[in-house]
Amino acid sequence: RIVASSDVEQSYIMIKPDGVQRGLVGEIISRFEKKGFVLKGLKLFQCAKDLAQEHYKDLKDKPFFPKLIDYITSGPVVCMAWEGDGVVASARKLIGATNPLQAEPGTIRGDLAVQTGRNVVHGSDSPDNGKREIALWFKESELCQWEPVQTPWLI
Ligand code: ADP
Ligand code: MG
Repeated sequence: RIVASSDVEQSYIMIKPDGVQRGLVGEIISRFEKKGFVLKGLKLFQCAKDLAQEHYKDLKDKPFFPKLIDYITSGPVVCMAWEGDGVVASARKLIGATNPLQAEPGTIRGDLAVQTGRNVVHGSDSPDNGKREIALWFKESELCQWEPVQTPWLI
C-alpha cells in the first residue's frame, strides 16, 4: 500500500540542550530507530527565542515559561521528524512522564533524567501538533520523502 507521506502520522521529537550537552544524542535517537519509526528529518540547530516561544505558546502563562525558553535556547537541540502509525502516542510512551522522577524505568526520561526542567527530550502531544511543530522547525526542503524498503517484519 502506497500512502502519501502527509497522510501518515508524524511526531516532532527534539533532543533538548541538556541531552546534547550530556552526549545522549545517539542513545535517544536509537530508541526511536529500534522501535521501527521512520526518520524523515534530522538536524542540529540553535534556536532563537521567538521560535521557542511559538513552539511552547500553549504554556506562555505558566510561571516557568521564561525559564523554559532560556533552557531550550541555551544550546543546540536536535530536531527530528519521525513517522509511522501511532507514532505520537508511542513516542510519548517511549519518552515517559514530564517529571523524570515519575517516568517509568525503561523510558528515556525514566532512565536518563532527574529534573522536570532538564528532561532531555520533547515529543508532540497530538498528531495535529506533530504536523504543526514539524512545519515550525523544518523547511520543506529539509524533510526527505523516502520510504523504507518493504520488510517482512512490518506489514
Ligand atoms: P511534556 O514535555 O511532557 O509534553 P509539558 O508540555 O507539560 O510537558 O511541558 C513542556 C516542557 O516544559 C516540559 O517538558 C518541561 O521541560 C517544562 N516544564 C513543564 N512543567 C514544568 C515545571 N513545573 N517546571 C519547570 N519546567 C517545566
Ligand atoms: Mg507538551
